[in-house]
Amino acid sequence: MKNLTGISPDAEKAIRLLKKKEYKAYLAGGCVRDLFLGKLPADWDITTSALPEETKAVFEGEGFRTFDTGIKHGTVSVLFGREILEITTFRAESGYSDGRHPDEVTFIRSAEEDVKRRDFTMNALLLDPDEGIIDYVGGQADIEAGIIRCVGDPNERFSEDALRIMRAVRFYSQLGFRMDPATSEAVLSCRERLSAVSSERLQTELDKMLTGDFVYDALMNYKDVLAVFLPELKPMFGFPQNNPHHQYDVWEHTAIAVKNILPERILRLTMLFHDSGKPHSVKKRPNGIWGFSGHPEVSADLSREALKRLRYPNHTVDTLTMLILQHDVELGTTIAEVRRQMNRLGKENYRRLLLIRRADVMAQSEYMREEKLALLDHQTALYKEIASRNQPYRIRDLKVNGKDLLDAGIPEGPMVGQILQELLELVMDEEIPNEKNALIEKARSCLEL
Ligand code: ATP
Ligand code: MG
Repeated sequence: MKNLTGISPDAEKAIRLLKKKEYKAYLAGGCVRDLFLGKLPADWDITTSALPEETKAVFEGEGFRTFDTGIKHGTVSVLFGREILEITTFRAESGYSDGRHPDEVTFIRSAEEDVKRRDFTMNALLLDPDEGIIDYVGGQADIEAGIIRCVGDPNERFSEDALRIMRAVRFYSQLGFRMDPATSEAVLSCRERLSAVSSERLQTELDKMLTGDFVYDALMNYKDVLAVFLPELKPMFGFPQNNPHHQYDVWEHTAIAVKNILPERILRLTMLFHDSGKPHSVKKRPNGIWGFSGHPEVSADLSREALKRLRYPNHTVDTLTMLILQHDVELGTTIAEVRRQMNRLGKENYRRLLLIRRADVMAQSEYMREEKLALLDHQTALYKEIASRNQPYRIRDLKVNGKDLLDAGIPEGPMVGQILQELLELVMDEEIPNEKNALIEKARSCLEL
């Protein structure tokens, strides 16, 4: 057996407390898979033969606090120091008449039955800290071979809960595993069922899929799965660009651009949608070269629609649509221009646009690539200089504020704000230094004019 190290001491202690009372208890699900892969698990899920009330009695008897948040589904949360452990009773599920939720959840005493309700073999391993791995479904062999395989019949499992289709694609993107052929076929043939799944659940899986290391393969091989709940992507599939700046169709360009950017959710979502407006904005010129002017506006509108439908928070939608709208904007070539853009877009969004532009360029053709990258290097250097030396690009960076101006005799009213803005422009253009006396003197002279 593979020697698994790195188990959380709290999880181990919780398992021992349950076992001391003659219950069965194991680590289960994603944490066992991650330990097996040598990754640090995000959370520690424990599964047990104890019924929820029995679990509570065990831990409350030892002085721990418990919470009933998921108790209807058999989950009791236990507070261990600063860590919360979720402890779930073995359960069987049946029904699934809506393709999303089981009609009935039954608590059972058999671990083997519990394992059968889980989605993939790699997620169906149990780990006993004393006895090691318990594997009823061949999960170890599948992890070792790098295979995503449904527990049981893929078609059945996907019709019970269609979210599993998207989970298969996100694990494919995160782990770089192959999909077992029967599972892969069912992912594609059952995909329409995803339209019954709630936006919140889809959003979680989409974010995890997009931030995976193997996102390019996921986007290229399972694009039709995404198109079920993101129909805005479909016109990009195979859409040619016929332009010297491009060597890929719009979708492959998109897939490369997504892979090329840091795995931050906002950045990856921006790349996913940044050119979605191109097929709707194409201008076929007589010389055979196609243009796509105005596409950022269309992409921004399409992404807003899609992200709202998936119930992303409003501020995420606003930031994303802004970045998509601005993805082709001039980022400036002088320090004054870069400061102005940082002022207009915000520092963080300016940083994001530098990364967005670089990922975009690296997904285009070789044509003028060196020039494009040289410009980006220059802009990045200017940005870093401004950011690292705290150079002024916002009103609040000025060495005077409204009160200083009033004290210097500027009359109260809208004039104060206007003068501050004017001072900022002059400072950004390096016409005057950012020093209190110089700024006040300038403010007075503004008034005299
Ligand atoms: P992550 O590391 O991203 O949390 P995970 O595999 O732990 O991945 P969770 O959503 O935390 O995913 O679920 C924990 C476990 O519950 C899974 O490993 C799997 O055994 C089971 N599971 C989760 N969702 C489903 C589902 N829709 N159908 C069947 N089993 C599921
Ligand atoms: Mg998990």
